[in-house]
Amino acid sequence: MGAALEVAGLSVVYGAAIEALDQVSLAVPEGGFVALLGANGAGKSTMLKAISGLLRFENGRVRAGRIVFNGEPIAGLPSFALARRGILHVREGRFVFPTMTVEENLEAASFARGKRTPQAPRRVYDEIFGYFPALARRRSSQAGYLSGGEQQMLAIGRALFAMPELLLVDEASLGLAPKIAAEIFSILARINAERRLSILVVEQNVSLALRHAAYGYVLESGKLVQEGPAASLMDRENLSKRYLGGQAAAHASP
Ligand code: ATP
Repeated sequence: MGAALEVAGLSVVYGAAIEALDQVSLAVPEGGFVALLGANGAGKSTMLKAISGLLRFENGRVRAGRIVFNGEPIAGLPSFALARRGILHVREGRFVFPTMTVEENLEAASFARGKRTPQAPRRVYDEIFGYFPALARRRSSQAGYLSGGEQQMLAIGRALFAMPELLLVDEASLGLAPKIAAEIFSILARINAERRLSILVVEQNVSLALRHAAYGYVLESGKLVQEGPAASLMDRENLSKRYLGGQAAAHASP
């Protein structure tokens, strides 16, 4: 299996001096499901922003290293160009248009793939609503009135609407009830399996992420400190104590 995404020796700085990532390497195989773990401020979101071209909006830049997608170097490309290549980033914070309906929110995402989704074919709606029945029931509701979990589903649904080849998901579980967070991860795992969509998730909920991902990486203060198959990283005692602090230990219980 080839790599959809390869990041090699990536160093990222914000402004003149703040080093957020220091020579980090990781890979997402084609059709793989990979988790990037770490405590607050470890550099997880920075990694996703570097991959999807969002760093520039925060005065960040790649200082060294390579980012290769489908065999081509992509570091420095603007985010719209990366979206057209199929890299879709579901940012932390569930960005949806609150006054637009669920369907309108989905349709608004089609621009991200340019000509690839010319007129929002019915089939794409059906597929997304198939994955997220809760959204199907709310298809005509304004997004601002959805629950947190439904908004997260919509944010992921919008990315799917743009027909991604690599889906980046930042803290999908944040602020959600454990049952809803688990449901969202199950759906991501199903999409990964059925569509062979490559997925890279950033999570503080270690056990949730490792239950669904096949492989994980752990960042600490901008450096990669551990990696391995999810089953081997499941030694949560070790992981949470060493790198993730009390917060992760709390998450680690089922
Ligand atoms: P969190 O879960 O809190 O989002 P994270 O692991 O995603 O944590 P990042 O947000 O990537 O961590 O932050 C990594 C480091 O870079 C931190 O020290 C943070 O303060 C710094 N940082 C992040 N964004 C910026 C920015 N826009 N300008 C300056 N420094 C930043």
